[in-house]
Amino acid sequence: MELAQMITRKIISLVREADTVTEYRKPLVGFASAHDGLFTKMKEIIGPHHMQPWEILPEAKTVVAFFLPFAEDVVKANKKTDGVAKEWAVAYIETNKLIENICRELKKDLISAGIAVANEKATHNFDEETLKAGWSHKSAAYIAGLGNFGVHRMLITPAGCAGRFGSLIISAEIPPSSRPSEKYCLYYKDKKCLFCVNNCPTKALTVANLDKHRCYRHLLEIDSSFPDLGLCDVCGKCATGPCAFYKR
Ligand code: SF4
Ligand code: SF4
Repeated sequence: MELAQMITRKIISLVREADTVTEYRKPLVGFASAHDGLFTKMKEIIGPHHMQPWEILPEAKTVVAFFLPFAEDVVKANKKTDGVAKEWAVAYIETNKLIENICRELKKDLISAGIAVANEKATHNFDEETLKAGWSHKSAAYIAGLGNFGVHRMLITPAGCAGRFGSLIISAEIPPSSRPSEKYCLYYKDKKCLFCVNNCPTKALTVANLDKHRCYRHLLEIDSSFPDLGLCDVCGKCATGPCAFYKR
């Protein structure tokens, strides 16, 4: 079996067998060359702190990115709840663990096939003061062809934006996935939507800007609503609109 297929099947089967309350739709998997010029551009777009794949794994050849889309019920619960739904908070916690598990299991298989692997944590890999991360799973997913960015600064994939991303850097070559030419954000497409901006409870989000600090202060306030779940800095009210499931 070719490597891309083996990795994709493994991710799909680990999600299918996951021991979680949260249910998922079918994961998406994409591949990017570790030497894609967009990784270099990330240093300009995100900042010089953003690492290139080979700064994480010197022998990097490919970046594997994946998206785990939440089941529709999780998103609907968060949409209809004032504040944040417990289902959404649980999905966040469980999915971060699931991403770590997927990376761990893939690592075992790849290393036993003689392939070197490295990955960054699923979340909280950012500086608490600047909120800057050394590696963006969303940007890796963009370069690996999984989707494009919406006004809410999340990546919209063909399965929507409601879910979580993970990525790994590996030393084997896999042909890169093509990037979609179609814009998935309805506002960027024809100015017909601003659900995310209008649904943001803190007004941190505008078309021109995302005030990350204002957003994150709100996420930390939400954390105190779920004391039994561990660090649960979530909101996602901007991810419950028409691009949550993107099916066109
Ligand atoms: S809610 Fe509408 S404007 Fe916001 S990202 Fe989604 S499609 Fe774009
Ligand atoms: S996560 Fe919440 S506070 Fe942050 S931009 Fe989205 S809707 Fe606004």
